[in-house]
Amino acid sequence: MKRAASAGEIMRSERVYRTEAVVLRRADFGEADRLLTLFTVDRGKIRVLAKGARRAKSRLGGNVELYVHSSMLIAQGRNLDIVTQSETIHSFIGLRESLLQIAQASYVAELMDALTAERAPDYPLFDLLLRTFAALAETSDAELVSRSYELLLLDRLGYRPELRRCVHCRESLTPGRIFFSAPLGGTLCPTCGETRAPGMSISVDAVKALRLLLERESVLPPAVKIGAGVRREAEHALRRYVTYVLEREPRSGQFLDSLRHELLQVTGDR
Ligand SMILES: [Zn+2]
Repeated sequence: MKRAASAGEIMRSERVYRTEAVVLRRADFGEADRLLTLFTVDRGKIRVLAKGARRAKSRLGGNVELYVHSSMLIAQGRNLDIVTQSETIHSFIGLRESLLQIAQASYVAELMDALTAERAPDYPLFDLLLRTFAALAETSDAELVSRSYELLLLDRLGYRPELRRCVHCRESLTPGRIFFSAPLGGTLCPTCGETRAPGMSISVDAVKALRLLLERESVLPPAVKIGAGVRREAEHALRRYVTYVLEREPRSGQFLDSLRHELLQVTGDR
């Protein structure tokens, strides 16, 4: 049986809210609209519609570009909420200077999107996302920013990797052979590692680098120099860990790998 909507219900259906948001993902929708995945300051991840955003004259246009931090006015819709106004707070212009930086930013955005649930407010995650994009836009060492981000993101989501003890027997690690297991959530001593994570050894220097990046809470590249070999090891260990938590390889991670491979070939040919 139908009944007339009360004034309160009409008010609620037309409710508008203002929030700060970062665009994680966007997809074309209908003729000229865009479907945006946002990470907001007070509502966590949400999906909204930006009507007419693909039209050249759209007022939303550049304010709903990928990775832009904006203040948005959003109207609650029946199915999807709709962005009605958007003003850029930070455009993080440096993120778009090279393909490699875009690829790093898309990796950061993919992890945030894939590992968070919708409408679960988490201010520290929003803050981490902003700090990471700001750091990526300003530094030439995007790699270490991404490593710090992975570690701090995993930590915040309850997957802080163990890097000081053996995850199996709980003994403190001693310099020498160390193993790293993604399914077990961190480092293993030689005895446990040989049986539980064969072939997954990691250097002491790589473990130290991971500890440093995890424990200082900043996403800015550290003052200490970290060599190329240690960077590769740290990246592989964290990629395995992220893939384990995600239950698939991050797509943008594969893109990043192939891009770097191509760049290496270009410079190698000279
Ligand atoms: Zn052990």
